[in-house]
Amino acid sequence: MCQDTAGAGCARPAGRSTFVETDQGVCRVSQENHGDGLGRRRFLGLAAAGCALGLSGSRIAEAAVSGARRLSFYSLHTSEALSTVFWESGHFVPDALAEIDWHLRDFRTGDVRSIDPNLLDLLHRLRTRLAYDGQIHVISGYRSPKTNAMLAAQSNGVAKNSFHVHGMAIDIQLPGRTLDEVRRAALDLARGGVGYYPKSDFVHVDTGPVRAW
Ligand SMILES: [Zn+2]
Repeated sequence: MCQDTAGAGCARPAGRSTFVETDQGVCRVSQENHGDGLGRRRFLGLAAAGCALGLSGSRIAEAAVSGARRLSFYSLHTSEALSTVFWESGHFVPDALAEIDWHLRDFRTGDVRSIDPNLLDLLHRLRTRLAYDGQIHVISGYRSPKTNAMLAAQSNGVAKNSFHVHGMAIDIQLPGRTLDEVRRAALDLARGGVGYYPKSDFVHVDTGPVRAW
C-alpha cells in the first residue's frame, strides 16, 4: 500500500504520464494510482484544469486567480486558532505564511518548518469545492524527523519518509462535512496524495504525486 511517503520507498503501482495541453501550454501530469473510478476523459479534464490553475508558474496562477484567499485553522492538539489571508493581489503574503508555519508546527517538539504554499492552495481549493468557509481542524501538520520516526515505530500507517516531514502534508477534518465528502473532493482535485483514515477520523492530503489510499 502506498502510504504518505515522500521518497523512493513508496511502492506505487506502475503508472504513466500524460501530457495535457492547456491554454497556457503543455503540462505533464501523472495518471498513476487512480483507484477512484475516474474516467480517462474526466481525469484529463481535471488535470488540465489543475495545470492551468497550478502554482508551477506564478504568472499562470496570477492570471487565473485574483482576490484574497483566506484559510482558517484550529489545532486539535494545541487548541490554537488562526484565520489569515495567505494570498492577495496575486501573491502569497509572507507574514501570513509565517503565521501558518507556526500554527502547523510540530506540536510535540515545537519545531517549525516552511509549509509548502501549494498545500495552502490545495486546502483553499478544497474549501471552495465543498463550499466550506469554517475552520479546518488540524490533527497533524509539520512533523520533525524525530517525531515522525517515533510515530512510524508505533504504527504501520505512518511512513518513514512522510510528506509531513517536508511540510507538504496535513491531516484534517472539516466540521459539518463528512470524511467521505472531504476525501472525494480531494480526489476530484487530483493535486496530490489523499489518505482516508476513518478510524482515526481524518483525511490526509499532500502535495506529492497524485495517488490515493
Ligand atoms: Zn498525514
